[in-house]
Amino acid sequence: MLMIANWKMNMTKSEIFAFLDSLAGEDRWRAWRDRGVRLVLCPSYPYLDFLGDQCKSRNLPFGIMAQNMCAFEKGAYTGEVSAAMLKDQGVEGVLLGHSERRQYFGETDGAVAEKVTRALSTGLLPVVCFGETRQERESGSCAEVWSRQVGPVWERVRKSRAEGIQTPVYWAYEPVWAIGTGQTAGLEEIREVSSHLRKAFGEDCASGLLYGGSVNDESVSGLCEKGTVHGFLVGTAFLDGGNVLRVFDRLFGRP
Ligand code: PEP
Repeated sequence: MLMIANWKMNMTKSEIFAFLDSLAGEDRWRAWRDRGVRLVLCPSYPYLDFLGDQCKSRNLPFGIMAQNMCAFEKGAYTGEVSAAMLKDQGVEGVLLGHSERRQYFGETDGAVAEKVTRALSTGLLPVVCFGETRQERESGSCAEVWSRQVGPVWERVRKSRAEGIQTPVYWAYEPVWAIGTGQTAGLEEIREVSSHLRKAFGEDCASGLLYGGSVNDESVSGLCEKGTVHGFLVGTAFLDGGNVLRVFDRLFGRP
């Protein structure tokens, strides 16, 4: 299970120190890791290196991923961060196509596909976010939206695989209406997504499905089903170390 904390534009150094202090206890993290459970933290760009060093010095076996990256390789793109730069910072993967990037920064399905191609060729694990709005759900167009968002990316993944790049890809189903709202999709809806990916793009495509959208220690157990959900992407709740521990205890038991 992959448990990802998307910190969005939150967490300064002092808050990161407090977060890590509250998670102290390297033995339990190693025990969880040995059971196949990993915690990955996604801070803002300026803290990638710092957070990696802090985790190492505390013997906390957490992964570090970025929240975004540029599709271009390098050059005159002021304000952007390249895949190679992320790699250089010891980052293992990157969230791509988050609904906030689509909504506030005009990121298109095509741009997400370009970024995924770049991530794969640089050896970064892409976590591709997709999901429908409330209006799209109410108008019955969920399947169409999922295919439109996943299809162009899956094509690039297959092309990369044909070229010998075997980096895995995770898909984070994040219904827009569930993000930060306190409402979650039900297990039935997540099963529907899984079955759609399988039917539209093949078994392999559905094998790394995460769920995101108002996950916390109360909602998480009802959203977990072996073989369907391979992890969670968590925003608000995982800004707090106590909540991380409560979710891990609830799902995986205290080692
Ligand atoms: C997110 O934005 O990726 C997310 C899942 O947020 P939240 O958990 O706050 O709904």
